[in-house]
Amino acid sequence: MKQRGSRSARTAAAQAGVKADRSYGAVSAPMYLSAIYHYEAFGKHRGFDYSRAANPTRAALEEVLAELEQGTRAVAFASGMAAVSAALGLFGPGDRILCSNDLYGGTYRLFEKVLRPLGLAFDYIDMGDCARIEAAIRPKTKALFIETPTNPLMKIADLRGAAGVARRHGLLTLVDSTFMSPVLQRPLSLGADLVIQSTTKFLGGHNDLIGGAVIAADAKLAEKLLFIQKAVGAVPGAFDCWLLLRGIKTLHVRVARAQETAGLLAQFLAAHPLVSKVFYPGLAGHPRRELHLAQADGPGSIISFELRSAAAVPAFLGALRTILLAESLGGVESLITHPSTMTHADIPAKEQAAVGLTPRLVRLSVGLEDADDLRRDLERALGVAARNRRKLG
Ligand SMILES: *Cc1c(COP(=O)(O)O)cnc(C)c1O
Repeated sequence: MKQRGSRSARTAAAQAGVKADRSYGAVSAPMYLSAIYHYEAFGKHRGFDYSRAANPTRAALEEVLAELEQGTRAVAFASGMAAVSAALGLFGPGDRILCSNDLYGGTYRLFEKVLRPLGLAFDYIDMGDCARIEAAIRPKTKALFIETPTNPLMKIADLRGAAGVARRHGLLTLVDSTFMSPVLQRPLSLGADLVIQSTTKFLGGHNDLIGGAVIAADAKLAEKLLFIQKAVGAVPGAFDCWLLLRGIKTLHVRVARAQETAGLLAQFLAAHPLVSKVFYPGLAGHPRRELHLAQADGPGSIISFELRSAAAVPAFLGALRTILLAESLGGVESLITHPSTMTHADIPAKEQAAVGLTPRLVRLSVGLEDADDLRRDLERALGVAARNRRKLG
């Protein structure tokens, strides 16, 4: 492991990949498209032999990801789901995983449709309460799988508290921290064992790649993940690693600006008569705002909100001009989704209702457009939806 000293994460991000080229000193990390590497001599290679096992561009990416998350080692994957799947590869038949109850829809689908048939078992609870976590641990429980804030309802788990409970019971703590990015939340520094990022989102930041990563607090777990990475082979290509290195250079300014705009839009939405509820940990009314701000450096740039009626949703979404109707989040373009029919459609309606996910809910990922343009777009579309609603009676 290279000596990192005490440089700030901002510096690490801005200089992502800078010293990766040892031959010519290229400032932009070279994109190594080679699948293979020839040996210098019999039994002697230069650290790389086959790009599934290791690739220099990927190594540069993994280095900066580990530094940003304050981990020992990052392991990059071809998607966020491949990263989640690799992390779950640490467990086997009979093991139980205790999970947040409003997980990303794709994670829930992986757990229930792929991993449960293979013998893993999943229990879902509200992770906001450590006493409840403690009570839900069963003899075969091996890990906590936490999202905070959750997607899309922005519920907050107590990361320090949960990791403490896990440690007392000999469980691992896995945190999908995609919604915050390492700029705003570093779960390993709060006691978690593994952090998962869908690098498709804030780290990439430009909606031009799919990627994921698992970052480990300790070397032993990292070794196991590296073995899974090599054995299963869900690795990102060099081009995607290069795009990620490039995206990471501007991560801090992107996250800060999007968050600033999100704060303004959340207040605008909270005051709008057609909006019945806003879920954003930056607003005074958020039930766990204090807890969130004690473990994260800001509320982020994702805002979920409910309209007064589900019937108004199609007109509202259809009337937006700047904000794009699309899945995903964390990129330069502002996106809006309808979780119950889009990102979370694979979660049965009954379970959606049980966690409070209604068809009236939309999720906005605030990008880097002008704040006034975004507010006007929301205002106009809400106006269209309100007029429509009166017409419908
Ligand atoms: C998008 C997302 C994932 C899945 O990542 P992909 O890169 O789309 O495979 C997992 N968790 C969260 C919280 C996400 O937002």
